[in-house]
Amino acid sequence: MHLRLRVLASGSSGNAALVTAHDGSARHDLLIDLGLSPRRMRGLLRAEGTDLESLCGVLLTHGDVDHLHDGWAKAWPTLLAPPVVIRPSHGHVLPRAGLPSAVTRWIAEPIELGPFRVTGVELPHDSEGSTGFRIACADHAIGWITDLGRVVEGLDSFLAGVRVLALESNYDPPMQRASPRPEHLKRRIMDGHGHLSNQQALALVRRLEALGQTPEHMVLLHLSEQCNHPDVVRALWQREAPHLHERMRVANRREPTDAIECGTALAVAG
Ligand SMILES: [Zn+2]
Repeated sequence: MHLRLRVLASGSSGNAALVTAHDGSARHDLLIDLGLSPRRMRGLLRAEGTDLESLCGVLLTHGDVDHLHDGWAKAWPTLLAPPVVIRPSHGHVLPRAGLPSAVTRWIAEPIELGPFRVTGVELPHDSEGSTGFRIACADHAIGWITDLGRVVEGLDSFLAGVRVLALESNYDPPMQRASPRPEHLKRRIMDGHGHLSNQQALALVRRLEALGQTPEHMVLLHLSEQCNHPDVVRALWQREAPHLHERMRVANRREPTDAIECGTALAVAG
């Protein structure tokens, strides 16, 4: 089995990623988040060799517009729509976004979607929270953790053994404090219910390392355009964890990032 993660876009202007499992000739895809316009998403899925109607499911972290684009209200397929995976406390999110008839799968317990076994974890983010995911397939697992104000207890064990970790690294605290943003917004982001800083993200990785569970590949998500920069993140890692630096990449904001591959090599690229 071969597993691939492709971040399609990452940041406050829209989030989406595709997880693909290949087993011989069969292919299975999961989408994470619907934060791009339907037209753009369909174009990107086509470029990846799939389409919305062929997905095993869509994992929805939460209902903010950068994760659930408002264009889907008029464009969600009525036939062959993939199930949307959300946790029960987010049950109102799809009707609120104009998708009352979307088929949902609740993720209170681990669920199976095609060859994937998906587990969710509740993360603190604004009033509604968000959901982190562990996506396992054969011997591989991917962790997807974004839009969280702080690292909650148990997150390191939730992520133990993941080969690929996609993790929010939203802001650099000095840049956040120096930014012209209103004080209430800075507080909201940094108060433990907003977003994860570069330092908090790296600290979680170091905790996994201390447990002997360093992921092979890490992709950092959702960098703030105003209060972060890939060079700032890379400089931090180079300074604090130079031995991990080459395992890490930063997701592009508006275009797909190079795919991360794990497992046996593909017989046919695609
Ligand atoms: Zn977000």
